[in-house]
Amino acid sequence: MHATALRAPRPADAAVAAATDPTAPEDWQALLREVRACTLCAAHLPLGPRPVLQLHPQARILIASQAPGRKVHESGVPFDDASGDRLRDWMGITREQFYDARRIAIVPMGLCYPGPGPHGDLPPRPECAPKWRERLLGQLKNLELTLVIGQYAHAWHLGERRVSVTDAVRGWRDHWPALLPLPHPSGRNNIWLRRNPWFEAELLPALRRRVAQALAGRDRPRRRAGRIARAPSPGERRHG
Ligand code: SF4
Repeated sequence: MHATALRAPRPADAAVAAATDPTAPEDWQALLREVRACTLCAAHLPLGPRPVLQLHPQARILIASQAPGRKVHESGVPFDDASGDRLRDWMGITREQFYDARRIAIVPMGLCYPGPGPHGDLPPRPECAPKWRERLLGQLKNLELTLVIGQYAHAWHLGERRVSVTDAVRGWRDHWPALLPLPHPSGRNNIWLRRNPWFEAELLPALRRRVAQALAGRDRPRRRAGRIARAPSPGERRHG
C-alpha cells in the first residue's frame, strides 16, 4: 500500500540520462523527491510543508483533487478520511485498489495542507499548481480517465473558471469519457447532494462503469493525451 508513492529513493539512473539527453523522459522518482523537498510556500502553511500525493507512470486514473485536509496532513496518506471513504464509494472500488499507485494517481491542486479558513480549509496554495502540476501530470502516459474534483481542479483541467461547480458537474457528458467533473466528496457537500439527486441517479452509475473500464484498460479515449495538461483559458482558446 502506497509503496510507489512513499518508497525510499533509488539511484537516479534516468536523471543521469536526462542530464546527457535533453529529450530523455524525466525520472519520476527523482521528481517525487524534488516535490517532497519543496518549501516554496512554507511561510503560508501553518503546519509546514508536507506534500501528499500518489504517483506512478503506469496509473490509468488520475484523481485531480483540491488539497489535503489536516487529518491527511498528519497521516501523509491521501484521502485517508471520510471524504476518501465517500470517493471510494462513488468510484465503486476498495481501499486496496484506491491505494495502488500503479492504477490510480492522486495529485491535488495544492500538495500541502493550506490551513483552516472561515468556511472550511483555505484554498490550495496558488504557488503549487504552476510550480509542479505540468511536470507531475506529464509522467502519466497511460491515463484513461481523470476525475476532476472541486472548483480549483475544474478551473485548471476544464478551463471553466466562471462556471459553478454545479453547472460543471451537470455538464459531465461534455467531457466524457476522458474527464469527469465531480463535486468534492466532503460531508460539507451533503446538502448539495440532496439538492442534486441526478448526481447519484445518473452520474454515479456511469462513473462506476467508467472506472471499471479504465482499470481494465478498455475503451481508451481518443482525446486523452491532450487533456492531461491545464485546459486553455478562453483567451488562449480564441487565439489557439
Ligand atoms: S503547497 Fe506546493 S508549492 Fe507549497 S510547499 Fe507544498 S509542494 Fe511546495
